[in-house]
Amino acid sequence: MLSAPPQMPVYHQLPFEVVSGHGNVVVDTDGHEYLDMYGGHAVAVLGHCHPALTQALTQQAKRLTFYSNAVDLEVRRKFCKKLLAMAPSGMHAAFLSNSGAESNENALTLARLVTKRKTIVAFEGGFHGRSLLALSACGIEKYRKLATIDGKPLFPHVRFAPFNDTEAALDAIGDGCAAVLVEPVQGLGGARKASTEFLQALRERCDATGSLLVFDEVQCGTGRSGAFTSADALGVEPHILTLAKGLGGGFPVAATLADERVTGFAGPGMLGSTFGGGPLAAAAGLATLETLEKENLIENARNLGAFLHDALAKLHGVTGVRGLGLLVGVETEAEAKTIHGALLQKHRILSGTCVDPHVLRLMPPLTLTRAEAEHFVSAFGEVLAEF
Ligand code: PLP
Repeated sequence: MLSAPPQMPVYHQLPFEVVSGHGNVVVDTDGHEYLDMYGGHAVAVLGHCHPALTQALTQQAKRLTFYSNAVDLEVRRKFCKKLLAMAPSGMHAAFLSNSGAESNENALTLARLVTKRKTIVAFEGGFHGRSLLALSACGIEKYRKLATIDGKPLFPHVRFAPFNDTEAALDAIGDGCAAVLVEPVQGLGGARKASTEFLQALRERCDATGSLLVFDEVQCGTGRSGAFTSADALGVEPHILTLAKGLGGGFPVAATLADERVTGFAGPGMLGSTFGGGPLAAAAGLATLETLEKENLIENARNLGAFLHDALAKLHGVTGVRGLGLLVGVETEAEAKTIHGALLQKHRILSGTCVDPHVLRLMPPLTLTRAEAEHFVSAFGEVLAEF
């Protein structure tokens, strides 16, 4: 179903309307519940309507709904402090915005300003958002085409290398390179995890050439990988790291974090955002981070990710399982689109597809329970048995 008027028809929507949510399920207009293995597009890290998030937003809305970066706010300071305490140790300061595309755009702007260079190295299968620069650095042709005219890129200074191919990547990174932009675990590209050796080689080459390594953790960050960042899970630190999706538990919150070399260079006017880091966003972000810690949800992502990887790999018809933590790609003989439809129709389970037609993508809330994970595996097995 395409999105219904008066909205622009740019989305294929699911054939039902969601009216509410609780725990790890959403509810449609007929009162049917759907297990959300899609996480509202990798966003609902605390599940739906988590009381801690609802309360934080409600209380903040009664105190101060909005004021911009023109003033200091205690809740924004607290959120940034908590964010940096959970991020890799080299991250020195944060700039807050509203979406993944913006966080990447800001990262690339900083990289260009700091290095005074223009070239970006990006990877096949990567996705970074819908701004002109993010689309230009997209390693999926269907999206990159949106940033071209007559087949020519509007921003032509991007070099692409195959993902996880160290030699090719090192060849692409040279002295004119401002930034190397990589998802440590590709999301839309099919839950493909970069190897530590690959990321470490990128880091070393960037250090040697004066380029900046940017980790796009918009999808694989905020605890999903089984550590707060995939940088920590995989043991390699970038110079700049971006987060969005789960960071506000469903409220639009994004962040560009950077090391001291970059933040030391940043000065008034270099970046800006009217809404970024507003009081509601900061309250939502703070509540999300505190709840991840209080409820051991990052550990839960690690444990249930391992459970799903093992249990799904044993099913007949599954040819492989990839990803990290609760960003899971299940490779199947059957088409992922068909499995996605059968899970929805027969079991009321929401899941995701990706650019690989034989990979089903799972990015459930980090509050997923073991019973829900087991239910998913058994439903998935039943669906596969019918092919
Ligand atoms: N980067 C990655 C890895 C993503 O998966 C996405 C969205 O799917 C984005 C960036 C863009 O985020 P947004 O849609 O919030 O702009």
